[in-house]
Amino acid sequence: MTDARATALEDLRSNLTGTLVLPGEPEYDTARSPWNLSVDQRPAAVATPADVADVQAILAAATAAGLGVTTQPNGHGATDDLEGVVLIRPSAFDEITVDVEGRTLRVGAGVNWGPALQALDGTGLIGLAGSNPEVNVVGLALNGGHSMFSRRHGLTARSIVAVDLVEASGTVRRVDDTDDAELIWALRGGGGHFGVVTAIELELFPADAIFGGSLVFPSEAAVPVISAAFALAREVPELGLDIGMMKFPDLPVMPPHLRGRVVASIGLVHLGDEATGRAYADRLLAVAEPIANSLTTFTIGQLAAVAAEPTDPMPTADFGASIGSDDDAFAAELVEAFLAGAERGLMRCGLRAMGGATAEELGSELSAVGAIRAPLLLSAGVLLVSPDIDPVAALQPLHDLADRHGVLGGVPSMLGAGTLADVYEPAVVDRLAAVKQRVDPGGLIRSNRAIRPA
Ligand SMILES: Cc1cc2nc3c(=O)[nH]c(=O)nc-3n(C[C@H](O)[C@H](O)[C@H](O)COP(=O)(O)OP(=O)(O)OC[C@H]3O[C@@H](n4cnc5c(N)ncnc54)[C@H](O)[C@@H]3O)c2cc1C
Repeated sequence: MTDARATALEDLRSNLTGTLVLPGEPEYDTARSPWNLSVDQRPAAVATPADVADVQAILAAATAAGLGVTTQPNGHGATDDLEGVVLIRPSAFDEITVDVEGRTLRVGAGVNWGPALQALDGTGLIGLAGSNPEVNVVGLALNGGHSMFSRRHGLTARSIVAVDLVEASGTVRRVDDTDDAELIWALRGGGGHFGVVTAIELELFPADAIFGGSLVFPSEAAVPVISAAFALAREVPELGLDIGMMKFPDLPVMPPHLRGRVVASIGLVHLGDEATGRAYADRLLAVAEPIANSLTTFTIGQLAAVAAEPTDPMPTADFGASIGSDDDAFAAELVEAFLAGAERGLMRCGLRAMGGATAEELGSELSAVGAIRAPLLLSAGVLLVSPDIDPVAALQPLHDLADRHGVLGGVPSMLGAGTLADVYEPAVVDRLAAVKQRVDPGGLIRSNRAIRPA
C-alpha cells in the first residue's frame, strides 16, 4: 500500500466511532476472514462502522484514496481477494422490528436470518428466509434469495419493500417504489453494486402452520425417489422441495450407519396443516424405506433446526446452474453424475424445485430477478478439507450435466461464483449496468459478482 493510502486510512480511523483494522495488525486475519474459508481475501482495511455517519466517512475516505468499498456481512458469498478494497462489516446495524399489522420486517444490515426468524415466532407471519440461519438477511435478499417458501410466495428479492442506502456519494436514501422505481428494481436481485445498505424492509406472509423436514434414503433408492420428488414438485407447485444427494464424510465423528455413505435426501416444507403435509410425504415414502425421517410441525423460529445445515465457517467450492429438465431420465443422469463427482470429493448437490410463485410474471418493472422458467435450480459444493481434493475435477460431472440441461434465468444467490450475466437476460444486465452508472459512476462500490465479465 502506498504511503498516501496508509495515511488516508489512519486519518479515517481517527474519524470513526466504530473500528478500522489494517493489514499487519493482530486482529486483521480474524476480521478479514469470510465464512467461505477457501477465499483468501486481503482487503486494504476492515471497517466496522458504528452508524451511518461512519459509513459516509468510509466512502469519502475510500474515494479520496482511490480505494474500492464492499459490504460483506458474513462472506457466505465471498469470491475475490479484495485487493485495494475497504471491507465493511455491518454488524453494528442490528435493529429487528416486526410490524405485525403492516406485515413487514425491518432489519439492520448486520442481522442474519436466524435471529430475524426467531423474532417472528408467535406473530403468525413468516419471511422468505433461506435454509441457513447464519446467512444475512440483506445479503440473501439483494441477491435474489430462494426460500423453501418461494414456491408459495416468490423469491426473497421480490419481497423487498424498501432499502436504506448510503450511495457512493455519501447521500443517504430510503429507496422504495415511489422514491426511485428503477433503483429498487435493481436492488431486488442486482446484488450489492448500488451502495451500502444499512437496513432493509421485507414483506411478511401469514402462515398458520408449517410442516416439513427431510427424508433420507439409501443410494440404491435414489433414482426412483428423486423421480417421485420431481413428479411431486410438478403436481404441487406451492410445496417447497430440495431434492439432493449427499456423501457423508468418512470420519470417526459420523454415526457408523452414515459414515462414508451416499444418500438421497429430500427436504420438504408445506405451509399448512400436518395431515396434508404428511400426505405429500407419503408419496415419497411409498417408493422406499427412509433411513432417516425428520418430518415435523415447526414454528418459523425453528426453521434452522429443521433444515439442520452446517453453520460454522468452512472452505468450500460451489457451483450452481438452472436446469431445464425434470423427467425420470434426468433423475438417472443426476445420480450418475453425483456418484462420479463423489468419487473425487463432491459432497452434496441439491435441486431446489422452482415453479409456483417463482415462475410468476410480475412485470419487469418490479424486480431485476425475473420469473424463473427452469423447473430446478442446481447447487453443489465440495468441502476442501484435504489438498488431495481437486474441486474442478469433483464438480466436472455436474458441469457436464449442466451443459446438457442448463438454461438461462436463475437466482444469483444460488449461483456460486460467476457474474450476473450468467443468470440474467442481456436486457436485464444492460439495465443493471445503467443503474450502476447512474448511482456509482466512479465504480467505488464492489459486489461479489460483477454485473458482466470484465
Ligand atoms: C451454507 C449456505 C446456505 C445457503 N442457503 C441459501 C438459500 O437457501 N437460498 C439462497 O438464495 N441462497 C443461499 N445461500 C447463498 C447466500 O444467500 C448468498 O451467498 C448470500 O449472498 C449470502 O449473503 P451473506 O451476507 O451471508 O454473504 P456475504 O458474502 O457477506 O455477502 C454477499 C454479497 O451481498 C452484498 N451485500 C451484503 N450485504 C450488503 C449490504 N449491507 N450493502 C450492500 N451490499 C451487501 C455484497 O455484494 C456481498 O458481496 C447459501 C449460502 C451458504 C454458504
